Amino acid sequence: MVALRWPDGVRCPTCGNETVSFLEHQERWQCSKKHPKRQFSAKVGTIFEDSPIALDKWLPAVWEVVNCKNGISSYETARALGVTQKTAWFMNHRIRLAMQTGSFEKMAGEVEADETFIGGLARNMHKDKKAKITGTGGAGKAIVMGLLDRHSAKVRLMHVPNTQQETLQTHVRRYVQGGSYVFTDAFAGYHGLDQDYVHNVIDHAERYVDGNVHTNKIENFWSLLKRGLKGTYVSVEPFHLFRYLDEQAFRFNERKGTDADRFSNAMRSIIGRRVTYKKLIGERPSAAA
Ligand SMILES: [Zn+2]
Repeated sequence: MVALRWPDGVRCPTCGNETVSFLEHQERWQCSKKHPKRQFSAKVGTIFEDSPIALDKWLPAVWEVVNCKNGISSYETARALGVTQKTAWFMNHRIRLAMQTGSFEKMAGEVEADETFIGGLARNMHKDKKAKITGTGGAGKAIVMGLLDRHSAKVRLMHVPNTQQETLQTHVRRYVQGGSYVFTDAFAGYHGLDQDYVHNVIDHAERYVDGNVHTNKIENFWSLLKRGLKGTYVSVEPFHLFRYLDEQAFRFNERKGTDADRFSNAMRSIIGRRVTYKKLIGERPSAAA
């Protein structure tokens, strides 16, 4: 983690000074300049900073979250790390939050757009919480919209409030470069995309594939996503759904590397942010976009 965070040598996170000494007994560094917080650990300025949990538990937790194909439940993490389920839940959520992709380049070329309903969310929930999720979609279901770039084979997921034209097309226009080839089914929510895109429509009432006109790749992703949600998680509250989406998207997008590659990439994005958890949740209050 130290090598990933400071590839050119350890620097003071407060003033940027490169002259620091390692205090072996405290397992901390000390900046040669005199200022407040001159002693620091590798956790300072990262999402791990304001947590009492040590890195020997955080790092294996990151490894598990980024590498378990169908996602990992807080019960499994708790058992593996010897922490309470509540602590494990908190750790996994913090990791997922940090895995959210920050800046985003627009997709281009050939892009599949589709939406799906995630059902059964209310099943294992307490009564008073169930009330909260009505109105998120058909019969308490959450709606997820996905864009899949065929060339890079990467997905972008959005938890959307409805399937109206304006909602769906706003996301397409935000994340897909004008002039690209966009592939959708015949759903009316996508009518009008041909103003800005080469819009290819596959009418599932007639057939599923017509040459390269299909939405098979995003639909394969949906089945992967649903398998993960059903098989692993006891319940996903809509409020937290976007974090699971981010996690699944990350794992899918990084699927070609090894477990160690995924771990390094996740760690780079986690510690590269150098923002604490409080800042992270303050800056990203909602995942709708
Ligand atoms: Zn300093």
